[in-house]
Amino acid sequence: MNRQEVPIELISTDGLRIDGRRLDESRPIKMEVGVLDKADGSAYVEQGKNRILIAVYGPREAHPKHMALPHRASLRCRYHMAPFSTPERKSPAPSRREQELSKVIREALEPAVLSEYYPRTTIDMFIEVLQSDGGTRCAGITGASLALSDAGIPMRGLVAASAVGKIAGRIALDLSDAEDKQGEADMPVAIMPKSDVVTLLQMDGNLTYEEFERGFELAVRTCHEIHEQQKTVLKERYLAIKEEVEEKSEPRKEEE
Ligand code: ADP
Repeated sequence: MNRQEVPIELISTDGLRIDGRRLDESRPIKMEVGVLDKADGSAYVEQGKNRILIAVYGPREAHPKHMALPHRASLRCRYHMAPFSTPERKSPAPSRREQELSKVIREALEPAVLSEYYPRTTIDMFIEVLQSDGGTRCAGITGASLALSDAGIPMRGLVAASAVGKIAGRIALDLSDAEDKQGEADMPVAIMPKSDVVTLLQMDGNLTYEEFERGFELAVRTCHEIHEQQKTVLKERYLAIKEEVEEKSEPRKEEE
């Protein structure tokens, strides 16, 4: 329900959604990597009105020591929504929802990380939602996978995520908060696009088998599009670093 608890028309007579999108249209996604100096890897993701910052540290020595696993690195994730990320001030204390999302996001990324290369270490991911508008776990997963890559952590491939849902009886891609609250179902999906391995599949609400199949296919197709964008962002970052390194290593004119 929206804030005033007044139901709104989710699909107009010409088939468009409240923000003017078609049913199979995702919100525009903007991604950036290497946005924080202090973290080993970082990323920033905007998807519609969502604004999410991700920092990655590690692999580093496990603290406390009993967290250390003898055969691989242990991944930790903290998903947190800033008090100013929602219309009403949200308590900064971790809620049950944030604990659940921290767990599912970690589990969505774990299969991609070659954690066996770094036994007895930890890799920490901090996902800070600065502004939320539905679909933050998916945008968080997409961004965390970029931040892990930016930290130089060896991976089997990137992870990309997208949600589909059902509004006014129709399957729709990438629900906003208002659509999620008033809609009939929401289904976040994360995959490793290189191998099509599904690393996250959740469903809130009800879909028929046929709707599930159609929605899942749409989400997977969108994950592949996001993956192309992720690769472009990483390539641009590494080209910028290469140029910077080459500039520094070029002898200065007076030294020639
Ligand atoms: P996701 O963000 O992955 O879709 P949910 O379905 O749990 O996760 O949440 C949907 C949306 O509900 C969030 O993106 C956010 O906009 C809103 N929301 C979540 N928690 C709160 C809260 N405590 N106060 C206000 N809005 C919230």
